[in-house]
Amino acid sequence: VIRRRRAVVLLVGVLFIAVGVATELGGGSGHAQAAHAGPTKRALRSLAAGVSFDQLTRTTQREARAIENVRRRVPFVSAGGRRHRLVALTFDDGPGPYTGRVVRALRRLGVRATFFQVGQMIAAFPGVARRVRRHFPVGDHTLSHPQMAMLAEPVQRNEIVADAERLRAVGAGRPLLFRPPYASFDLRTLEVVRQQGMLMVLWNVDSADWTRPGTRQIVRNVVSRVRPGAVVLMHDAGGDRRQTVAALPAIVHRLRRRGYRFVTVPRMLLEAPPRSAQRLPRGAQFARRH
Ligand SMILES: [Zn+2]
Repeated sequence: VIRRRRAVVLLVGVLFIAVGVATELGGGSGHAQAAHAGPTKRALRSLAAGVSFDQLTRTTQREARAIENVRRRVPFVSAGGRRHRLVALTFDDGPGPYTGRVVRALRRLGVRATFFQVGQMIAAFPGVARRVRRHFPVGDHTLSHPQMAMLAEPVQRNEIVADAERLRAVGAGRPLLFRPPYASFDLRTLEVVRQQGMLMVLWNVDSADWTRPGTRQIVRNVVSRVRPGAVVLMHDAGGDRRQTVAALPAIVHRLRRRGYRFVTVPRMLLEAPPRSAQRLPRGAQFARRH
């Protein structure tokens, strides 16, 4: 069994490198697509079996299919395509004491966004988690927020599966998206995420809001770095998030003036599918070996 698992991990590694090499050369990877067709077909069948994502996760079936299509092409996503002026704000580490304020601010501004929640936080703030999932799609951000690349495969698997179970328990449905804490992951993480039917979502704009640099600096970090297809990393928990909340109106107004529309990550994948070549964010800890 161990040998087979190693073979699987090795295969994924080879695929990942194949995708990387192919995308570096500017083309898609037919081999990688063929290899991923099996699980994708299964996932599509379960979609067709009448699982309603619309009501439970605010992700439409068309968006869920778009996620599947992307999953077939790339090992992870850090930005959408550039064909429309779309931007996806994402909020990590909640639910927490400031999440309600973030949700209120987003709704007041009429902004769609995506949340990545931590299982231990869901246990501490289940009511807040329910409130978020009523309005926004929610992805998996592990049970306890570890550096995944440091962990053995069964531990990684438990981190992902246990958070998915907590999300389901608060009515968020089966998570379709996964974000590794600290962008720390390795080939085993990619394999578990794929097996669980999720797409790994990183980011290409870091608000650095967790360092609490001041509201104006957070606004600057985001507004100056956003390009069409941007996925913006923000936080609704993990500390005092008043600066994040205060920065939202200026971020939204200034980007709207530049013609941007705020969408969820699933919506972005549908309207502006990402290019095959996806870059790791600065500071990402991707371990090819283990
Ligand atoms: Zn996090």
